[in-house]
Amino acid sequence: MYDIVIIGGGPAGASFARLIGKRYKVLLLEKRSFDLNKTREKSCGGLIAPDAQLMLARFGLGIPKSVLISPQMFAVRTIDIENHIERYYQRHYINIDRQAFDQWLESLIPQEVKIINNAVYHSYRMENDEIVVKFFYQGKIYEEKTKLLAGADGAFSMLRNQAFPDSPKPKLYISIQEWFETHKNLDYYGAVFDREITDFYSWMIPKENTLILGTALEPGKQAGEKFQLLKNKLKNYGFQFEKSIKKNGACLFRPIHSKQICTGSQKIALLGEAAGFISPSSAEGLSYAFKSALALARSLEGGLEGFAGVYKKEAQSLMRNIFFKNLKSPAMYNRVLRKLILKSGVKSLKIEKMKI
Ligand SMILES: Cc1cc2nc3c(=O)[nH]c(=O)nc-3n(C[C@H](O)[C@H](O)[C@H](O)COP(=O)(O)OP(=O)(O)OC[C@H]3O[C@@H](n4cnc5c(N)ncnc54)[C@H](O)[C@@H]3O)c2cc1C
Repeated sequence: MYDIVIIGGGPAGASFARLIGKRYKVLLLEKRSFDLNKTREKSCGGLIAPDAQLMLARFGLGIPKSVLISPQMFAVRTIDIENHIERYYQRHYINIDRQAFDQWLESLIPQEVKIINNAVYHSYRMENDEIVVKFFYQGKIYEEKTKLLAGADGAFSMLRNQAFPDSPKPKLYISIQEWFETHKNLDYYGAVFDREITDFYSWMIPKENTLILGTALEPGKQAGEKFQLLKNKLKNYGFQFEKSIKKNGACLFRPIHSKQICTGSQKIALLGEAAGFISPSSAEGLSYAFKSALALARSLEGGLEGFAGVYKKEAQSLMRNIFFKNLKSPAMYNRVLRKLILKSGVKSLKIEKMKI
């Protein structure tokens, strides 16, 4: 019998396991193998934003070289296709290999935690006061008992759907990312705004000798056409998307109301994107995964009894943060406001080009 079974060993689940692993008897189920050649890749831009960097600092962690990827960038190029304006802003993201990052986070989990990779969670049921967790591993079905079940299984959380089917979900987007081979890569992160493509945004991220083109689209039939239109429009800005290496898609949440965040109940806790924690303005999710893992771990400092109320309280600042991000969103996503801000040039930077 475990104290806590965690579903999902992404940034939220792995961080949570790292924080509580010495205090509780923990089982972590993760469907990926983290064998870099075999495992299914998580669709991600792989940029660690300043908020997530701050969380790594608070955790006392530094990133190993093996996780970093070139180039490291200091600017974002904002391309507003609708308003025909471009601006550069100073930003420092850490460019990483997301797969290697997740593998590194998993390696930090104390050895007291039992980790089963390639294990796919299936369902749970209550037996008296205990939770029986059912999962698949190497073609067989297994069951384990636990006192608390923690869902860190991402945007498409099976546990959230099973345990809280009526809780309102954040707005759903379908993200598409395609990798293109390139010999002369960008030295900045590109953010692209155009409502003909999406009411959210699209991005370009350089990774060694490849360039990722990504977008978050409202679900619908025209996803393929819109992605093609994005490529065509960006060609007018001098980008070439020729040799495609790979393409993948994922669900992406955008919480618009705090009601769409679900932290769970007395026996089942949700964290990370499974709970709906992600920035509604930029889709930055790593800092939210870390912060919710910390909030849940803190709520368990006094034992399992009554943790749920404490977790909800601990998570309040995250909810407020999402609320304020929603308030700030029109500045980026309203065409007129964005035009005014970009035109003003406030906080933008000049890229120095010599004539000689
Ligand atoms: C296209 C795209 C680009 C993004 N780019 C960035 C970025 O550059 N920077 C940033 O900060 N955020 C980015 N995000 C958001 C970020 O990836 C997520 O918010 C973050 O990964 C959430 O962490 P998590 O641990 O909650 O969930 P996840 O990272 O999704 O982890 C969930 C884990 O659960 C496992 N799992 C799922 N179901 C099961 C099951 N049934 N059984 C066992 N295991 C299971 C999965 O394998 C996975 O390891 C991006 C998201 C998308 C879709």
